[in-house]
Amino acid sequence: MDQFWCERAWLPTGMSDSVLITSDGRHITDVRTGEREPSGALRLSGVVLPGFANAHSHAFHRALRGRTHGGGGTFWTWRAEMYDLALRLDPERYLALARAVYAEMAVAGVSCVGEFHYLHHDRDGRPYANPNAMGEALRQAAAEAGIRLTLLDTCYLAGGIGHQLSNTQLRFGDGDAESWAQRLDELADDENTRIGAAVHSVRAVPLDQLPTVVEGAGPKRPLHVHLSEQPAENEACLKAFGRTPAELLHESGALSARTTAVHATHLTSADIELLGSTRTTACFCPTTEADLADGIGPARELADAGAPICLGSDQHVVIDPLLEARGLESGERLRSGQRGRFSPRELLGSLGEHGHASLGWPSGGRIEPGGPADLVAVRTDTAHTAGCLPEQLLLAATAADLSTVVVNGRVVARDGLHERWGDVGALLGEAIGALRES
Ligand SMILES: [Zn+2]
Repeated sequence: MDQFWCERAWLPTGMSDSVLITSDGRHITDVRTGEREPSGALRLSGVVLPGFANAHSHAFHRALRGRTHGGGGTFWTWRAEMYDLALRLDPERYLALARAVYAEMAVAGVSCVGEFHYLHHDRDGRPYANPNAMGEALRQAAAEAGIRLTLLDTCYLAGGIGHQLSNTQLRFGDGDAESWAQRLDELADDENTRIGAAVHSVRAVPLDQLPTVVEGAGPKRPLHVHLSEQPAENEACLKAFGRTPAELLHESGALSARTTAVHATHLTSADIELLGSTRTTACFCPTTEADLADGIGPARELADAGAPICLGSDQHVVIDPLLEARGLESGERLRSGQRGRFSPRELLGSLGEHGHASLGWPSGGRIEPGGPADLVAVRTDTAHTAGCLPEQLLLAATAADLSTVVVNGRVVARDGLHERWGDVGALLGEAIGALRES
């Protein structure tokens, strides 16, 4: 039995003082407020929040950070650089890179990551001896970094609507949805890992294959899909089928309460209604959407229509869930001319419970008995946070203000250092350096 004593913690019932949290070593078994600090408990100062879910990650994109800003361009020119990078990875290098990226996430307060994984096969598209070698590398990386993983194994079959995969995309493809589903079936959950499924996008999965993917995912696994990140996707879809991507997904049975639509940037009001009425979650990735010049999606309208909102760091221009939450609200302010479009409590829900639910861990993201013992202690005495109201800390703090991160009842990071590896910068530098030399 382990105990954590929090000066102040944000519980489902609100902000509370002197909170004693007991864990059985993995889950929370008891939460009491107004308790004196017992000897032997780990003291967590400042404000303690539930662990954050990073609901959308492509781990290898981290190697592009700070390297793509030289020549202007668009989402599509950035994508060409990303494909070049993808060709350099093999299971061993991917393990080293993902381990460092997930360690960066642990230090930033992430307790669970959703990895939207499509880098399945060898460079020429041939499967490795273990066809899931790349996915298994990600599983190992998350376990070593001390965070939970939902491996969203992604079906990626086409290079665009009506186009075959290009040479640089060959390693993403399984040939058809049936073969993808068979490979998915070889993957199993474990204590730290959930297996989920993903449709890369309506660009990458032909219409006649979509129902097989939805069926192959099974009725319980989380199902994620990139949706309307760029206007060009909508235009191509409308031209080919006379329907928006959201309409196409709905007709194929892909929208439901277990589904998460990632980005959901360029939507019609009918699309918003479809996502809301099916209780599909929308995953916003505000720092990426700004970085790639995607646009600002209708987050408030989606939430009002009934779609839970969660957050992801996607291509990892930044790994800082607090900045994603602030980006969600900032985007709303910029597009509406109004402040307070999402309350701090709503932002906490996007960081915690909605993200965990989207990744198939419905008891995560809240500090209450039965949930995983994931705790993020935010300092209230730093240059960023001194003088802030505790309830408004989410609009001021960054990952640099975290003192302690606990995942599954274990301390994984303290004061910006990973418990296992210390300085994550060195780990990242080594993994990215090895890729660049290859
Ligand atoms: Zn993505």
